Amino acid sequence: MAFEFDPDLIFKEGAVAIAKKLGVVKLYGIWDDGRCTCGNPEHRVGGGAEVQCGKHPQGKNWQNRAATTEEELSGWCDTTRPFNIGIILGPRSGVIDMEWDADEGRAYAESMGLTEIETPTYISGRSEHRLFLWDDRLSGCSAVVKPGGLEVRLGTGELGAQSVLPPSWHWSGVRYRWKPGFSLEDVAFAPLPEVLLRAIVNDVDSGKQLATSQFSSRHLLHTVVEKGARHPYLRSYITRKVFLHPLYLQESAQADMIVEIMAVNEKRCRPAKTEQEVLALFHSCVEYRRKMEERQEVIPTTDAGLAEIAEKIDEAVVPPQAPVSGYALQGLKWATVDGWPAGEWLPGDWSIRMVHSDPPEIVLCVPAWNDTPCKGQVAFAFGEFRSAKMVAAKVFEATRRVLLDGDGKEWQTIWKGQEGNSKRPKLAGLVEKLLIKKQRTDDVYVGTSSLRYATLAGYLLEAFARAKQPKEDKPEPDKSGRPCWVRPGELWLGWVKTWEEIGRAHDVAAGERVRMKRLLCERLGVDDFREGRHTFGSAKLSYVIFTPDWIEAVEEFAAGGMGVEDCPPNTGMSEKNCGKKNRANVRIPRLETEVIDGQGVSVSG
Ligand SMILES: [Zn+2]
Repeated sequence: MAFEFDPDLIFKEGAVAIAKKLGVVKLYGIWDDGRCTCGNPEHRVGGGAEVQCGKHPQGKNWQNRAATTEEELSGWCDTTRPFNIGIILGPRSGVIDMEWDADEGRAYAESMGLTEIETPTYISGRSEHRLFLWDDRLSGCSAVVKPGGLEVRLGTGELGAQSVLPPSWHWSGVRYRWKPGFSLEDVAFAPLPEVLLRAIVNDVDSGKQLATSQFSSRHLLHTVVEKGARHPYLRSYITRKVFLHPLYLQESAQADMIVEIMAVNEKRCRPAKTEQEVLALFHSCVEYRRKMEERQEVIPTTDAGLAEIAEKIDEAVVPPQAPVSGYALQGLKWATVDGWPAGEWLPGDWSIRMVHSDPPEIVLCVPAWNDTPCKGQVAFAFGEFRSAKMVAAKVFEATRRVLLDGDGKEWQTIWKGQEGNSKRPKLAGLVEKLLIKKQRTDDVYVGTSSLRYATLAGYLLEAFARAKQPKEDKPEPDKSGRPCWVRPGELWLGWVKTWEEIGRAHDVAAGERVRMKRLLCERLGVDDFREGRHTFGSAKLSYVIFTPDWIEAVEEFAAGGMGVEDCPPNTGMSEKNCGKKNRANVRIPRLETEVIDGQGVSVSG
């Protein structure tokens, strides 16, 4: 039956959204007969405003009343009055929503590559909604923008915006539902493609009469600019000067421009940028224009055109003082640092992989070394990896040719970073940058190997071993979600919570937790975990229930008996370890005594 109200289902989906740090908004629902619960007679199926039916938030100030905890959500679910749920968008939740329904929108989306991107996606009455990561550069845009026929809900400003979320009912009689394989639990939020982000931001600018850029080139002449904003304003100002000067390549013209620019820098920038920084920017602009002319491109003279150029200056021009270095040949990427002419080196093509062998190893992967004896992969013990000197030595040994520490001091700074002081900024080292990069990407080998899942199952068993016994008089699960025996043969736990705790001691990616769940369900031949709910005062919490067959499955996995065999070569791991991890040596105390069913414990599934 259409519009059947199922608070348990709403709780379940809403809790996932909350676990992903999204704010959940309570919307009006739809009665069995198709009326919106708000009471407006036009808000009904077949009514004048049927598109509003069950789609708008309840109450004023809803932007600031979104549920962010399971307790709040659970409080809402204690009702028989239908309601739908939405998520709050924009900086409040960290995500934005995009959809398109006309051919124009689809064509534009395809041209931007949007249909290829994996990001949480759900299906509504008329179209697909894709959730992307919020980006602070969108702050100046309106709450909803429509580039190229897309509808992008940004949720900026006081008013904010929300999008209806599965499993809400759509007035057409279908539920909103996640696209298979693209739910919040399946995939992580993707960032907006840079090109679309620019299109959105520039679209906003083109609507304004005067300033064509967020950083007007004239601004600096009239206003003091603080640290943080100095670079873009100075860049706009210098671009304008250089691009509008007919004799910009003449030495005397350049000398005059530099005097003027220096004066403005002194007067308006707080604190003023160094002479060296200003000169670097100036030369970048000169070089950029010269190259454009060399390529016979049209030199812009309008505010809009100049603003566009100014934004490209940083990325397109390698400033004259950029180090000409072998590091770029190895695939590292040089980047400018505001206030630090030496810049910094980013991982570029470099990445690392963890191998959970005993002892664990870190494998440095560098495509530029594919044709050397190490085939682009060099393995390190953790201790070695922390030492710039040892890394350089081992890389030379493995590649037989790459010398990273030709300048030992420079390599030390690149690898380990530098402490900041009054004269120089604090910079992270490559070690740290590589670790951060690794956390952002799914570690394919480690994430799918038997060995890895044996390790993960071992962690889970350790958590089970710590499970609490319930109080004899009142058997109930642990309020915080830690594993707890509630009845004989029933271990109740919050799945996400349990992995959060494991994550404090071990390196676990969110994707691995999801995959572990899938593997367990596959092994047991079911679609989903068995779930239970428990009421603490006004809060109704949801748990997964592990019975002995589930625990056995985890034990099997820990013993390496799950048959996911895919050990690639070159990981430094010996063949015999592949897929055979020592059975985790953990005994799980089971609750043997019969107990009376606890009050408030309800079981479904
Ligand atoms: Zn209504």
